[in-house]
Amino acid sequence: MNIGQEGNKGRIKMAEIIDGKAFAAKIRAEVRDDADKLISQKQVKPCLAVVLVGENPASKVYVGQKSKMAAECNIKTKDFKLDASTDQETLLKLIDELNIDSSVHGILVQLPLPEQIDERKVIDTIVVEKDVDGFHAINAGRLSIGGAMLKKAFIPCTPLGSLLLLKDKVEDLKGKNAVVIGRSNIVGKPMSQLLIEESCTVTVVHSKTKEIEHVCAQADIIVAAIGRAEMIDANWLKEGAVVIDVGINRIPITKEDGSEGSKIVGDVDFESASTKASMITPVPGGVGPMTIACLLRNTVTSAYRHADLDDPRSI
Ligand code: NDP
Repeated sequence: MNIGQEGNKGRIKMAEIIDGKAFAAKIRAEVRDDADKLISQKQVKPCLAVVLVGENPASKVYVGQKSKMAAECNIKTKDFKLDASTDQETLLKLIDELNIDSSVHGILVQLPLPEQIDERKVIDTIVVEKDVDGFHAINAGRLSIGGAMLKKAFIPCTPLGSLLLLKDKVEDLKGKNAVVIGRSNIVGKPMSQLLIEESCTVTVVHSKTKEIEHVCAQADIIVAAIGRAEMIDANWLKEGAVVIDVGINRIPITKEDGSEGSKIVGDVDFESASTKASMITPVPGGVGPMTIACLLRNTVTSAYRHADLDDPRSI
């Protein structure tokens, strides 16, 4: 599909919905095939160690989903649940053990961590070759350098998932104007670097950007990673833009029976943006499922690398 495709005359044009749930299922099927091949060729079962410190409810749900989907992909998981009061030394000792455990190919420490623990210290203690979240300073550096270095890196899962969705839908990313809203190390920065690598012309905007709406309205591609519920509406968009909504925000709602509840929305006002975008990811069901699929993909890639084999898939 071409960016900027026109709808039927006289009708309100609605964007094509990018189905991240279906695409993530396809990625997981590939991951399972790759895991099966490794098991039959090398008798090695990919294994992900998942470390959860504390009782953050969202983290617990997320970790549970990871383990379930890993099992479906023939990836073994080792779960480590530590008390919220765990000190940094204890956590680092566990990571050291996992670093030298040859049966473990990926180590994931669920963020956020309790405040007594230095997140950066923990991330950089994970051995680079098992950093399947791609947050280690060396993996971030490899992504930043790009080219051949990118092939050695692990790419953070949410930006990787967002890029795979884009590449599936947009025939040629070269030369497209892309605006990434947000500059976090987890999403915004790596996303912008991936888009540069795809030869997009990339602008990163954030909370201090002046005339941010005007900048966004020049974009063929918008990636919203802000953490502000439904902030981006049609007024921010160029006609025909492709919109990737990374945001996950829980907002209060009043249910039909009058009781109070909540729902998950993105950083983009889906209804409004759909009238102007050519394609858009929904929330839920867009980028979210891709994140776990890419974590599993990175884990199997790591198992291949540990077995001295080429990566089973490229970006
Ligand atoms: P951070 O809070 O780390 O970063 C948010 C970024 O948005 C910052 O760069 C901030 O700017 C910018 N920002 C905040 N307010 C505004 C504003 N009013 N105008 C412009 N820019 C603004 O968040 P994350 O990157 O970790 O996450 C972003 C969103 O993505 C969240 O909703 C999160 O839940 C979601 N997420 C979803 C994942 C998934 O699997 N789908 C995975 C990870 C995150 P500044 O730097 O100036 O403060």
